[in-house]
Amino acid sequence: MAEPPAGSPLQDGAGFAGRPLSEVRRGLQPILSASGIAGAEREARLLLMMATALTPERLLLNDARALSSAEARALSQALVRRLAHEPLSRIAGERAFYGRVFNVSPAVLDPRPETELLIDVVLSWADATGGRQRPLSILDVGTGSGCILLTLLAELPLAQGLATDISPDALVLARDNAVRLGVSERARFAHVRSLEGLTGPFNVLVSNPPYIPSAEIDRLDPSVRNYDPLTALDGGVDGLSVYRDIAMRAGRIVPSGLIALEVGAGQAERVSSLLNRNVENRSGTPWTRIDLGGHERTVAVLTQS
Ligand code: GLN
Repeated sequence: MAEPPAGSPLQDGAGFAGRPLSEVRRGLQPILSASGIAGAEREARLLLMMATALTPERLLLNDARALSSAEARALSQALVRRLAHEPLSRIAGERAFYGRVFNVSPAVLDPRPETELLIDVVLSWADATGGRQRPLSILDVGTGSGCILLTLLAELPLAQGLATDISPDALVLARDNAVRLGVSERARFAHVRSLEGLTGPFNVLVSNPPYIPSAEIDRLDPSVRNYDPLTALDGGVDGLSVYRDIAMRAGRIVPSGLIALEVGAGQAERVSSLLNRNVENRSGTPWTRIDLGGHERTVAVLTQS
């Protein structure tokens, strides 16, 4: 955990100890704004919730109570990290995804809200094909925190699945998350690159692979570049290397079912055409769905033997 440098005004909780929560909350806002953090009011509230372990309602009700010195220390440590633009989810070690809370660690991509669309795509397909009434088997390529596979297992109580990752540390975290969500008996984990060595058959292949072109990584926002692991971001020269690999093998691994992929902004057309050309047993053409930001965010295709 980052410590405030000795002699820094943030040491000892920036003098926040013993002051009422409402005052501390107001005092945090200009400090956050001065570091270019947008939404300082909300951020101040969240930091205070983290330091005090109070729920939003309790924080409001306890506005007048004083911050203890332990809380002030926790607050100052979190504040130092936040002022360096570390995402709040990483400071807290948790992120909500599709209504459930996942552990996050430096080994994994911080789950993004737009990835929830991929869950919707799979669940719509399951609804339309009786998938909720049969024991689907699901493959998640590059699982990271496990947010995609584990959410699907929680939503589809008859399903079971396999998650792959090239990072052993990511797999350890994903396993913890499986336990946290109560789905560990239906989840397996494999330490492999992409979908190497896998044969299936699976009913569903999902993936949110690394898709940033290598040369663009340096230009990413520092909150991404400095905190998300490179292996979770780097998609090779054109950003499409894992999609290429998936497109070449997915048809055999999913003889009859659904392939659903998240893509980066502007990649949908190229990923659709990779699937079109390489998935020999595809049934119909790939379709896309648009996220709340207006980007084509998922590409999906059906297969049939
Ligand atoms: N599947 C994980 C997620 O969507 C990890 C993705 C990745 O590391 N590229 O959050």
